[in-house]
Amino acid sequence: MARKFSVVLAALLVLVLSASAQDAKTVVAKTLNAMGGENMKSLQFTASGSSPGQLKDGNTPGPRNLIKSYVYTVDFTIPAARLEVGAIGGLPPQTMLGGEGHSLTFVNGEYAWDIGGVPGVIGGGSRPTDWPIIAFPPSFKKGGDPMRQPNGDGLQSHSDVDRNEQIWLTPHGFLIGAMKNNATVADQTVDGKKFQVVTWTGPNGQKINGYINDKGMVEKVETWMDHPMYGDEHVVHAMDFYRDFGGIQFPAHIVETVTTPALSGDKSLNLELFVTDVKANVTADLSIPQGVRDTPRPPPFTIMTTKLGDGLYWLAGQNDCSLVVEFKDYVTVVEGPMNDDRSVAVIAEVHKLIPNKPIRYMINTHPHVDHTGGVRGYAAIGATLITQSANVAFIEELIKTPHTIIPDSLSKNPNAKWKVEGVEDTRVLTDGTRRLEMYHVRGNLHSSAMLMTYLPKEKILTEGDPWTPGMVTPKPGDRAYQRCCDAQNLYDNVIRLHLDVKTFAPIHGRIDTWDHFVQYLGLPPENAASKSSGN
Ligand SMILES: [Zn+2]
Repeated sequence: MARKFSVVLAALLVLVLSASAQDAKTVVAKTLNAMGGENMKSLQFTASGSSPGQLKDGNTPGPRNLIKSYVYTVDFTIPAARLEVGAIGGLPPQTMLGGEGHSLTFVNGEYAWDIGGVPGVIGGGSRPTDWPIIAFPPSFKKGGDPMRQPNGDGLQSHSDVDRNEQIWLTPHGFLIGAMKNNATVADQTVDGKKFQVVTWTGPNGQKINGYINDKGMVEKVETWMDHPMYGDEHVVHAMDFYRDFGGIQFPAHIVETVTTPALSGDKSLNLELFVTDVKANVTADLSIPQGVRDTPRPPPFTIMTTKLGDGLYWLAGQNDCSLVVEFKDYVTVVEGPMNDDRSVAVIAEVHKLIPNKPIRYMINTHPHVDHTGGVRGYAAIGATLITQSANVAFIEELIKTPHTIIPDSLSKNPNAKWKVEGVEDTRVLTDGTRRLEMYHVRGNLHSSAMLMTYLPKEKILTEGDPWTPGMVTPKPGDRAYQRCCDAQNLYDNVIRLHLDVKTFAPIHGRIDTWDHFVQYLGLPPENAASKSSGN
């Protein structure tokens, strides 16, 4: 359905005329008046709906999240905004994001912060309410220097810019912004329907277009935003079923669609909201907490290297880690997580640890953003990227996706000779001495297209997400309980394959032992021994 819509849109998008900026002011003022926004300083709307979940594999969207409550409060004068979401993740079939979560996110000028919740996951958190505030540093310094995610999962690379942009994608916000930002207007016919299209430049330097229909209402707002992994995203807010909410005309139905070449058709990210209440000029505390103001600008990427053996390193330092394995003529890195900056830092560290050998392979565990956000950095150095077969096309699309809003290392080296190879079930890299085995983690609910790696001589397993060492065993009914099933499935796969695992060098968490894993699963200690095939 989304695919059809975008094809029709592309085919019928015809620019007809342009008019002067003076006309734009008149059009915008008239529309704002008709929508009851002439004296609007702040706005709050309440909705319910659904949001996309994580991919099952590179071809298949995962289960959607049910949004029980969505309260967006915005002060256009600061500008600042607060978004509170209560959601149930992973509608059946359940995934690790199952269960109920709550998130509270803020932006005020160049400060962005969260209270509770997991960054980057809508409604995805069951952190206690006294969980410390997570403050994100300004993404852009005054000179326009993009500061990418220094901590966390790599999804909040420019939260302040993105959240500021969202303020102006609300129907009234778009018009209020147009009044102050030298908007222009042009007549345009889309799908046989006439619009006055008002255009101005948003805080991230990209155009924002608002489509005013023949009823004088904003029917659609679109812009372009950068994502560290998905690149130049086309963001469209479609608004319909306008209703009178106490003198304010507001759409009762809003669909936000995010598309890129890798996020097309069914995979386009599609947030659907049914609006139940709208209030203007509300009082809300959107002030910046002192703790957020005091958060120092963190250093660029931290790499913490642990030597696990000869030519074997675990590179941590942030939310996601990589395993570095030296072979006779080349180096293999397991996982290119987070974003391009992390990859650039890891690659530099690899060259320091193992000079004069190229990184020939980068093995990707599964297609989720925090695990795949850095793959382009490895494409940029001409590496061969290995992933489970069902993710091959997706990774290729990610590599081909334009990153023009914030160029990354691949956009600066577009002729790099990269390759993507799929592993259906098993693959081995060996130089006769060192041996690295890759296995499909069969039947894992977290992602159906997941690989793990195993070093038989060192007895080290590397996996991303089924088990995060350091986590407390969840009880049935806990939000994280599904994580337990993912871990149990990992255990079952290790047993099936007769792997003699002693150590975990995971993508998340810390170096840990098989014995702790068995304890985590609540299995009797003798299970620790039952896995060995004896060879
Ligand atoms: Zn994942």
